[in-house]
Amino acid sequence: NENLLRVEELKIEFSSSKGPTRAVNDITFNVSKGETVCIVGESGSGKSITLLSIMKLLSKNGEITNGNIHFQGNNMRNLSNKQMRKIRNQEISMIFQDPMTALNPVFTIGYQITETILNHSGLSKKATHERVIELLTLVGIPAPKQRIKQYPHELSGGMRQRVMIAIALSNNPKLLIADEPTTALDVTIQSQILDLIQDLKEKFNMGVLFVTHDMSVVTEIADRILVMYGGKIVEEGTVEDVMVNPKHPYTEGLLNSVPDINRPDRPLEPIPGSPPSLDDDIPGCHFHPRCKYAMEECSIEYPSTFTIDSDHHVNCWLQKTGEWSHHVSESEVL
Ligand code: SF4
Ligand code: MG
Repeated sequence: NENLLRVEELKIEFSSSKGPTRAVNDITFNVSKGETVCIVGESGSGKSITLLSIMKLLSKNGEITNGNIHFQGNNMRNLSNKQMRKIRNQEISMIFQDPMTALNPVFTIGYQITETILNHSGLSKKATHERVIELLTLVGIPAPKQRIKQYPHELSGGMRQRVMIAIALSNNPKLLIADEPTTALDVTIQSQILDLIQDLKEKFNMGVLFVTHDMSVVTEIADRILVMYGGKIVEEGTVEDVMVNPKHPYTEGLLNSVPDINRPDRPLEPIPGSPPSLDDDIPGCHFHPRCKYAMEECSIEYPSTFTIDSDHHVNCWLQKTGEWSHHVSESEVL
């Protein structure tokens, strides 16, 4: 599996009137070609900020204070804004939750896709028109020749998101970044859009970095999962590892708060309390105020990374308990 994106020891801070706040704190992960990596967590966990920093689209008061972002082997922290614009136009595309904010209401969708292509390619007008039809067909929009004459408000939410995906694909990106692109859609349409993203990923061997707060979306789309809490990755692994054998109480909480098709009778159990805000300075494990398993040490020291399996890692002191009791029995033998 060829590595496309590598995020290394990334720290992002925001300056505010109260001083600097750490939004993302020392996260490391990879995205390979042909792989969908999902970042999951409640709002405020640092997911969207991570995506924006990769695109170099952080707001003015946000800054990468440590770490590196490598894309196809190049360190993007060293790129100028101009070079970065080129990458955004040609190599990495992003789709967002609400296509209405990205589409211009006063132009037809045909016009908007045409403009995007004309801006970045040397195609003739005729070839561009053909490409627009090809892209709309690719994303499953029926009767594309009629659709191009329509305005965004004439399309359903699902169709608008398909248009956004068509625009995102227009330059054959190697990496597609998606920030909750299906959150505003109803479940059936959501499922169709997730299928579409999966199909396109396979067809073009793209890497997909997908952010969501919803574990049921993760089940549908992820190859690998990064669970984020309080600006840190607290658990990561393959979708099988994390969904079947979650090791972090927060992951377990996220799973228990959504319906399980295999166990329809199980009551839903929301995680008590709310996620920390950026300027909360929680000592030890950030999750301890909400964790039903919290122990004394949890509020003192941030948990080390424990390896469950080659690709499955977790930051939780519960993993130490086994090691510790083993250690005690050894000393008893002595
Ligand atoms: Fe809960 Fe402690 Fe594990 Fe944090 S380290 S998740 S508080 S058990
Ligand atoms: Mg967000």
